[in-house]
Amino acid sequence: MKLFGSSGIRGLVWEEFTPQLALDIGAAVGTMCKGHDVVIGWDVRTSSPCLSNALTSGLLATGCDVHSVGLTTTPTLARATKGFACGLMVTASHNPPEHNGVKMWNPDGMAFDTVQMNQVEERLVNRGLSLASWDRVGRVHEYPDALKEHMETIVRSIKSLKLKVVVDCGNGSACLISPQVFRELGCDVISLNAQPDGHFPGRMPEPTEENLSLLKKTVKDTGADLGIAHDGDGDRMVAVDENGNYVGGDKLLALFAIRETKRKIVVPIDTSMIIDHFLEGKVVRTKVGDVFISEKVKEHGADFGGEPSGTWIFPKETLCPDGIYAAARLAKIVEDEGKLSQQLASIPEFPIIRGSLQIDKQEMCKVMDKLKEKLGNLDYIEMSSIDGVRLQFKDSWFLVRPSGTEAKLRITVEGVTKRKAKELYEKVVKLVKQAGGLK
Ligand code: MG
Repeated sequence: MKLFGSSGIRGLVWEEFTPQLALDIGAAVGTMCKGHDVVIGWDVRTSSPCLSNALTSGLLATGCDVHSVGLTTTPTLARATKGFACGLMVTASHNPPEHNGVKMWNPDGMAFDTVQMNQVEERLVNRGLSLASWDRVGRVHEYPDALKEHMETIVRSIKSLKLKVVVDCGNGSACLISPQVFRELGCDVISLNAQPDGHFPGRMPEPTEENLSLLKKTVKDTGADLGIAHDGDGDRMVAVDENGNYVGGDKLLALFAIRETKRKIVVPIDTSMIIDHFLEGKVVRTKVGDVFISEKVKEHGADFGGEPSGTWIFPKETLCPDGIYAAARLAKIVEDEGKLSQQLASIPEFPIIRGSLQIDKQEMCKVMDKLKEKLGNLDYIEMSSIDGVRLQFKDSWFLVRPSGTEAKLRITVEGVTKRKAKELYEKVVKLVKQAGGLK
């Protein structure tokens, strides 16, 4: 079975992601690091301390010293990896509370690429683990300053802000840094769901519009300039404008992209046509997943990379998506250029529908092959297989791709009118169902 998805290893705790597996991953990564120091951190999930202890044990057994940041955000850990052989973050990001996983980081802030993940997996499968002798076992060191360093880096970069901001941390680890960063910058801050809690009692960790009704209401009721929402581990960020309207990833992507892109921008293949409307000829499309965006940003020397899921990469800062930094950058735009709703008014909106269908994991390849066969008969302009299959028509497109983290086929459809998008979505769902494999 393939252990690694597009974001490292993730799954249900005790079933797919066990302490034994964490121990082995620690030993595999430790073997690859050849006794050099490793930094480790974890998110608020109830299983995170247990799993990070298992990972730490594996690392120590191979002779690596482990520097423990403790409870932290993913971008804090990724930034702290500078100066270490690698960094390990125990998190399942925006997935439900009963899930967990591990994300691995390089010193330049980029997640482990496919080659590195395959190397870890190969060691796990073939038991290519090299344990140290009894007198070379590693030691644990505390690294308590990582959050402070992260906060100082952002404050140094953004300098000051005078806005009223509502920050919804969703009980995730952004609680530890995001409200503090805005206060330090000079903002009037109202924080929501700002107690770290692995049960996520305030809302589910994915910052989708349905999960953010309290944020929308609070921004409106308090007359705030801006609302910010993070996911469970703080690498994502989406926003709410001063009227309490949700601002999704596609619009934010366009807003950042227009300002950042001089030469090249990297986006995933499921990104809205809005981006081509503004930046034709400068857009590089890649597979869905922040690690693929970072890889291409690095390869092309791009100015910016982003995903509509709320992932923003400012390569001059770091190759890791940093939801806290991105939130401060957005606030800076609002302060310098005016209300968020006004900034968004010039960005056209094409109706986009995103959905998914549960698919038996074993059947995934067969279903995709059958689907591609069926699609050959359609009257399309261009077909792309960068990730799943994407068909471009005159004024619409759709993408069907296997999820990188779950047993699902994800479907994205965009059209110039709502009707067009809806019709195309229904057509695609029908085609997928005909290809079989539905649960
Ligand atoms: Mg995340």
